Amino acid sequence: MFHRRVLAVAVFFVLLSAGRAQAVDDCATKPFDDTSRIGEYAADEGLPFQFPMDELFMESAEHPARFCEWSYPSDDRKYHAAEDYHQPAGTPVYAIADGTVSFSGRMGGYGWLVIVDHPQFDIYSLYGHLSPSRWRIDAGTEVEKGETLAYLGDDDENGGSVAEPLVTHLHFGIRVGQRNNYPGQGEWRWQAGWIKPCPTDVGWLHPSEVINAQEVPEGGVPAPHGGLWEVWRAEIMLTGIYVLAGSVWLFFGTRRRKRVMLLLGGLSFIATGTMFHIRGMKAGVAILLFALVYATILGLWFARQRGSDEQVRGGASGVDST
Ligand SMILES: [Zn+2]
Repeated sequence: MFHRRVLAVAVFFVLLSAGRAQAVDDCATKPFDDTSRIGEYAADEGLPFQFPMDELFMESAEHPARFCEWSYPSDDRKYHAAEDYHQPAGTPVYAIADGTVSFSGRMGGYGWLVIVDHPQFDIYSLYGHLSPSRWRIDAGTEVEKGETLAYLGDDDENGGSVAEPLVTHLHFGIRVGQRNNYPGQGEWRWQAGWIKPCPTDVGWLHPSEVINAQEVPEGGVPAPHGGLWEVWRAEIMLTGIYVLAGSVWLFFGTRRRKRVMLLLGGLSFIATGTMFHIRGMKAGVAILLFALVYATILGLWFARQRGSDEQVRGGASGVDST
């Protein structure tokens, strides 16, 4: 009896520690690569890549976000899947290489967003915080390296508003694959800006490094994908472990009528799900939903137990009265 309780407590501690392992990672911020040859890349037609603007950084600009930089607070950490280049509104933004515009439109916090597919390198480039009021290039347009795609947006049209203006800057990303390899919408898909997984794990490349190298790095680049399993593997596994453990707990708990154990199990799932949810993990919501199912089944079981207890008591008093 005693060792079973010890075992039960141990199981929950193991499950709790599984959540902690999630927080450890080594996705380091990448500094801006050398940008001193920016003019040379733009002028030389023989080179495949150039930077998306004539100048990238303003002296006075506040710290621009780098590739894989973390957002804070750190317990809901997200990574910057691109580089930010600060220039005034109206600055022209160029295609970094020959390609086809595969998206041009309004997109939430980006204001206006343009995406160019470069099938010859199997990458796409993404340009955010543009100006819908100045010019809107059509999707499907074929562009050459250096061709103007858009202009940087004013601080109230680039994803910012009059009430909450956004510093004018270009959010510039390069990713393995074509836009269609990442269907739909969502933080980890094609329009990703600040994302939960490490950007390099989901195909994002270090933009200034690629342009400086004048080639897409060979080897070490993960294949593109849009699969739930690839991106949320850890979360799906965590949810699976908890749902399985909870179902076993529920099955044996009800069979052996361990009411306190069953209640404690339910409370543990609520506590764990809440903890994961606060940490920004999708598994938290899934485990909380499971806790709801668990509570419903438990509620029904308690009701049935009480019903049968009363039946037994009713039967017994009947015997007494005769
Ligand atoms: Zn950005």
